[in-house]
Amino acid sequence: MARRCGERAVVLGAGMAGLFAARVLSDAYTTVTVVDRDTLTGPMEPRRGAPQGRQVHGLLARGHQIIEELFPGITDEMVTAGASIGDLAGNLRWYVNGVRLRQSRSGLDALTSSRPFLEGHVRARVRALPNVEFLEGRDILRLVATPDRSRVTGVQVTRQGGGGAEELLEADLVIDATGRGSRTAAWLVELGYPQVEEERRKIGLGYVTRHYRLRSDPYRGDTAINIMASAALPRGAIAAKVDGDRTVVTAYGILGDHPPTDPEGFHAFIASVSASDIIDALRDAEPLDDPVGYRFPVSLRRHYERMRRFPAGLLPIGDAVCSLNPSYAQGMTVAALEAVTLRRHLLRGTAPDPLFCLRDLSADAIDRVWDLMIGTDLSFPGVEGERTPMTRISHFYVGLVQRVGTRDPAVADAFLRVIALMEPAESLMRPALLLRVLRGALAGPANRSAARRPRTTQRGVRTP
Ligand SMILES: Cc1cc2nc3c(=O)[nH]c(=O)nc-3n(C[C@H](O)[C@H](O)[C@H](O)COP(=O)(O)OP(=O)(O)OC[C@H]3O[C@@H](n4cnc5c(N)ncnc54)[C@H](O)[C@@H]3O)c2cc1C
Repeated sequence: MARRCGERAVVLGAGMAGLFAARVLSDAYTTVTVVDRDTLTGPMEPRRGAPQGRQVHGLLARGHQIIEELFPGITDEMVTAGASIGDLAGNLRWYVNGVRLRQSRSGLDALTSSRPFLEGHVRARVRALPNVEFLEGRDILRLVATPDRSRVTGVQVTRQGGGGAEELLEADLVIDATGRGSRTAAWLVELGYPQVEEERRKIGLGYVTRHYRLRSDPYRGDTAINIMASAALPRGAIAAKVDGDRTVVTAYGILGDHPPTDPEGFHAFIASVSASDIIDALRDAEPLDDPVGYRFPVSLRRHYERMRRFPAGLLPIGDAVCSLNPSYAQGMTVAALEAVTLRRHLLRGTAPDPLFCLRDLSADAIDRVWDLMIGTDLSFPGVEGERTPMTRISHFYVGLVQRVGTRDPAVADAFLRVIALMEPAESLMRPALLLRVLRGALAGPANRSAARRPRTTQRGVRTP
C-alpha cells in the first residue's frame, strides 16, 4: 500500500489509461476524481469519446497479466460474463506470410472480448473503489496553474448542457489521459513552456470491423484467428470470439490499401487475405451490424520526457503521449505498463516528480514498444524510414523465426512472447534459440500443410 501523496488526484479521461491510473492513484490520494465527456454508465457499448472501441481490440498477454494484478479475479468475472479465454500459442491461430504458426501451449492466457466489454468491467472495478468518483458529461476546458506557472493546481471543466457554467476541480495531481487528441501540448505552450517534440511515423492504416453470429465453426477449439499483415501479404484479418456470443471480424491494410465498408467489398478484401478459415465461416453467418471503418494515418509520440522544464502536478499518459499503430494491439498494454511505473513512483510517498516520472514511463513502458512498432512497420517495403544494415538483418532473422515457427512450436512460442510484450525482442537472439532457428532454417522451407493460400489476388497483394 502506497503512503498518501496528496489529497486529490484528478484523472482527465476515463479510457483504459485513465482507469488504470485511477486504480493506482486510489492507493495514494484521499480522493481520485475521473472526468470524462461521455456518459459512462449503461450498456457496454461503443461510445462517442472512444470511437476506436468499435474496432477489434486484442489484449496482449502482458497487459492481461497487469489487469489481473490490479483487479484480482477480473478474468474470471469477464469469462463468466462471456469473454473467451485460451492459450496464447495454443488457442490463437496465427498466420504469418500466409502460413500458419505451429500451435503449442505457452502457459499464457489470451483473453478475447470487445473493447467496450473490457473497459466496462475495468470501469466497474474502479467505480467500486470507495475513494474514486466519476464526473461524467463534462468537457475539459483548460488547466489551472499557480501565478508563476510552475505548478498545475487543477482543471476547469464544464457540464454538457449546463449553459457554459465552468467548474474548477482543484487537484494535487492532474493526470491527462484524454487520448491522442490531448490538449496538454497546447496548454503547456499557453503556460509558457516550449513546444513538445513530436515524432510521427506514417503508416496509412485503414481498419474495417463487423460483428457476426456464426452458424459454422471456424475455430475448432481455438478462440481467435489472426492473419498478420506481412511484407509478402500487406493486409491482415482477424476473427475472434467475443462477448455476447459474437464473432468480431476485422480487416486492415496499410499505405492507403484499405478494406471497403460495403459488405461485398469487405468480404472480398477478407478473401484476398484469408486462409479460408475466416471467409468460409462468413458465408452463412448472420451479420449483426454494418461494417465500420477507422483510419489511422500516423503513429504519434510526444516526447515530454525530453523537455527540460515541466510543471509540477501534471502527468500525461496513454495515447496522449504515444499513439501506436493499432494493428500490433499494444496500446492498452502500454497504458497498463505505465500504471505499474506510476504505482512505483507513488510508493515513494511523495507526489511524483513529473520529469523523473515521464522519463521512467518512457523507459519502462514506451521506448521498447515504440521501437518494436517502428521495426515491424519498416518490414513493409512502402513504409518511409531509414533501414540501417541492422534493421535489414533483424528483418531477415525475424523472417527465419517466422518460417521455422511454422514447424517448431518452441520457436513459434518465442516469437509470440515478443509480440505479446512478455519478452524483449532481444530474447529472439538468445544463443540456444538462435541455433535452433538457424538449424530449422537449414532443414527446409515453411510448413504449408496446415495453411491454405489466399483465395483471390487483389491490388497490392502478392501470394506468398
Ligand atoms: C482502430 C484502433 C484499434 C486499436 N486496437 C487496439 C488493440 O487491439 N489492442 C490495444 O491494446 N490497443 C488498441 N488500440 C489502442 C487503444 O485503444 C488505446 O491505446 C488505449 O485504449 C489507451 O487509450 P487512452 O485511454 O489513452 O485514450 P482513449 O481510449 O482515447 O480515451 C480518452 C478518453 O478521454 C475522454 N476525453 C477526451 N477529450 C476529452 C475532453 N476534452 N473532455 C472530456 N473528456 C475527454 C474520451 O471521452 C475518452 O474516454 C487501438 C486503437 C485504434 C485507433
